[in-house]
Amino acid sequence: MLQYPDLEQALKHNFGYDQFRPGQRQIIEDALQNRDLLVVMPTGGGKSLCFQLPALIKPGLTVVVSPLIALMQDQVESLRNNNISATFLNSSLNFDEVQKREETIRDGKVRLLYVAPERLLSQRFLPFLDLVHHQIGISTFAIDEAHCVSEWGHDFRPEYRQLKSLRKRYPDVPTIALTATATDRVRDDIIQQLGLKRPSIHLASFNRQNLYYEVRPKSKSAYAEILELIRETDGSTIIYCLTRKKVDELTFKLQNDKVVALSYHAGLSDEERSKNQTRFIRDDVRVMVATIAFGMGINKPDVRLVVHFDLPRNLESYYQESGRAGRDSEPSRCTMFFSFSDIKTIEWSINQKTDPQEQLIAKQQLRQVIDYAEGTDCRRIIQLGYFGERFPGNCGNCDNCRYPKPVQDWTIEAMKFLSCVARCQERFGMLHIIEVLRGSKSQKVIQNKHDKLSTYGIGKDKTLDEWRMLGRSLLHQGLLEQTNDGYSVLKLNPLSWEVMKRQRKVSIAVPVSQKLSLVGGSNKAVEAELLLQRLRSLCKRLADEQSVSPYVVFQDSTLKLMAQAQPQSLADFAKLSGVGSYKLAQYGEKFLAEITAYRQERGEPAQKNYSLGSIAVNNSPNDSELVTLRLHQEGLSIPEIAHKRNLSPSTILNHLSKLMAKNQPVDLNQLVPLEHQQKIWQVLEILGDISLTPVKEQLGENYTFDEIRLVREKWRRESRK
Ligand code: ADP
Ligand code: ZN
Repeated sequence: MLQYPDLEQALKHNFGYDQFRPGQRQIIEDALQNRDLLVVMPTGGGKSLCFQLPALIKPGLTVVVSPLIALMQDQVESLRNNNISATFLNSSLNFDEVQKREETIRDGKVRLLYVAPERLLSQRFLPFLDLVHHQIGISTFAIDEAHCVSEWGHDFRPEYRQLKSLRKRYPDVPTIALTATATDRVRDDIIQQLGLKRPSIHLASFNRQNLYYEVRPKSKSAYAEILELIRETDGSTIIYCLTRKKVDELTFKLQNDKVVALSYHAGLSDEERSKNQTRFIRDDVRVMVATIAFGMGINKPDVRLVVHFDLPRNLESYYQESGRAGRDSEPSRCTMFFSFSDIKTIEWSINQKTDPQEQLIAKQQLRQVIDYAEGTDCRRIIQLGYFGERFPGNCGNCDNCRYPKPVQDWTIEAMKFLSCVARCQERFGMLHIIEVLRGSKSQKVIQNKHDKLSTYGIGKDKTLDEWRMLGRSLLHQGLLEQTNDGYSVLKLNPLSWEVMKRQRKVSIAVPVSQKLSLVGGSNKAVEAELLLQRLRSLCKRLADEQSVSPYVVFQDSTLKLMAQAQPQSLADFAKLSGVGSYKLAQYGEKFLAEITAYRQERGEPAQKNYSLGSIAVNNSPNDSELVTLRLHQEGLSIPEIAHKRNLSPSTILNHLSKLMAKNQPVDLNQLVPLEHQQKIWQVLEILGDISLTPVKEQLGENYTFDEIRLVREKWRRESRK
C-alpha cells in the first residue's frame, strides 16, 4: 500500500490535481485505515475523490451506490477519461451488456462499480456480489447522496433504507457515507440507518468562498438585468422559476432576444427533458430555464450563474440550488430576485395548507428567506447560521459586503407612516396607508374619507417603493405589527408609540443601484481570452467525438490555466492542475498544437517562458506567495498563516502586499477593518503616494503600519487605472 506522503503523487498521476482540497487528505487516510466514514461536504467540495482515490489504492472492488443514472454515467465517463477502470450497472443497459460488464468485474478488471440501490439489493444481484467478494474482494461501499436514507432530508428514497442489510451480509467491508446535507437530524439518521460503526465524521465548512451572493429587487427592469447578467456571464447559466408557466414564458422571451435557451420542467416529456439536460451539460446550450425539478444529480462543474427569478421555498433549498454554481471553485454568481408580491403569492399558498403544523413550518421558512433577502449584513452570516455555523461576516464576496447599503435616518418618515396607521384606526394594510400618505384619489381612500385626514398627502416626496421599503423595515425591526389573518392589517405596538413620541430613532438601510462585476473578472487579458475560446472549441470537439461533456476532457479551470501559461512543451503542459498522466498522453499534443498555432498566427515566437508580454512575467506571483494566497483564501489570518507555514508574520504580510501589487485576489476586508480602510484611504488621497510614516502620523496610534501598507497597495492599484 502507498505511504501517506505519496498520496499527492497518486493524486497528480490519476486525477492531475496538485493539492488536496480541505479535508480530502484526512478522509482518504481514514478510508485507507478501513474506517467507516461520514463525510459531510458542500456541493463542489470534492466528495467523489474521497472514495475514488482509495479505490485505486486499496485492493478489491469499490461499490458506489448512487441514486441517479445521469450522475453515475457522468462520473464513470470522467473516471474513464483518466484511464481509471470504472463501470456502472443500471436499468439503461440491456441484458447482454450487463453480462459483459459483470464478467469484466469478476475478472478483477474494474476498480469502481456504480449501482443503483434497488439493483444492488435485488435477489439476482446479491449472489453475484457474494461471488465478487469471495473471488476478488469488495474493498468499500461508498454511499453517495446518503441523506436519501433519511425522512428528514429533502430527498428520501425508501430503497436506501435497505442498504443496512449490506452491513449484515458483509460485516468486514467498511462503509463511506457522503452527503451535502448538513442538519444534525439527517446526519444522525444516516449513521443509524446505515449502521455505521464508530464512524469518523468529517464536517466541512459550508462556506462556498467562490460564490458571489446577491439579492436584487425584482423591479420592472428585472428582465433586462437578467439579460445583462447572461450576456456578462462567461459560461453556463441556470435560471429557476417557481412554475412551469413562468419557465415557458421566460424561455420564450429570452429566445426572442436571441439568447439560446432551453427549458426544463415536469410538463415536458421524459425524452425532451433528458435531451435538454444533455444539451446543457454538453455545452450545446448555455442557458437553462427551469423549475427546481432541474439540477438534482447534475454534476456540471462549470455553471457560472444561478438566478432565482422567484423566491426560493426555504434557505436550505436556496443554498443547494444556488450551490450548483461553481462546483469547480471558480468565481461564480448567485442572484436572487426579490419582490413583495412574491411573498404574497407564497403566503397565499401557505394559507391553503390544511395541516396547521405544516403551515407553521412553511411560514417560519418563508420568514427566514425574507430575512435573508432583506438583510443588510453579510449574506453568509444568515446562510451559514442556518447550518449552525457561526460566520464572522465581512466575507467580501456578497453584495452587502461589497456595496454596503448606507444607513439613513428615517425617523420623520417613520413618524408620518405610523401616525397615518393610527389615523386610519389600525384597520388597513400597507398599500392603503401608502395611498393615503401619497394623496391618492382612489375610491377606497375617498369612501373612507381618508382624504380628510391630516396625514393625507404628506408623503408625496417619496415613491411607493420607498414607503414600502420603510413599512417592511418597520415590521422587520418590530416597530410595527401585522395581522396574520390573510388581510395583513397594520397594528401599532408600544415601540411604534415611542417612535411617534420622538423617543426612538429609526434608521433604515437604503439600497444603492449596483453595477457589479465578479472578482477576477475584470482584469482578463484579452489575449488569453482569445486563446481560451479556441481551447474550449477544441475541447468541445474532442468531447463530441466521444459523446461526453467537455468538462470530462478538461475542466474549464484547466483550460484557463492553459490559456494563461501557454505551455510550449509536454513537460510544461503536465504541470497544469487538472492534467494527469493519462490526459497528458491522450490530449497533450493536440492542445499544444492549438497553442502553437495560435501563437504563430499572432507572430509570437515559439519560445519557452514567453507569456503575455514581459509585464505578465514579472507580475506573476512566485510559489511561496501562491501558497500564502491559498491559505488567505481559505480564510486564515496573517498569524495563522505564519504559524502554519513556519514563517514570520512580516514575511506573510510581505507576500500579501506583493500579491496585491500583482493583481491577485487578496481580500483586503479580511485583513483591515472597513472603517480603517476608509480613513487610511482618505489620508492617502490627501497626502498622495508617500512613505508610511507621515501617513501613520496623520492617523495616530490605532492604525498599524501593516494596515496602512496593505491599503496603500490597493490605493496604488486603483490610482493606476
Ligand atoms: P461534490 O460531489 O462534493 O459536489 P465533486 O466530487 O463533484 O464534488 O468535485 C467537485 C469538483 O472539484 C470536480 O470538478 C472535481 O474534479 C474537482 N476537484 C475535486 N478534488 C479536487 C482537488 N483536490 N483539486 C482540484 N479539483 C478538485
Ligand atoms: Zn458578505
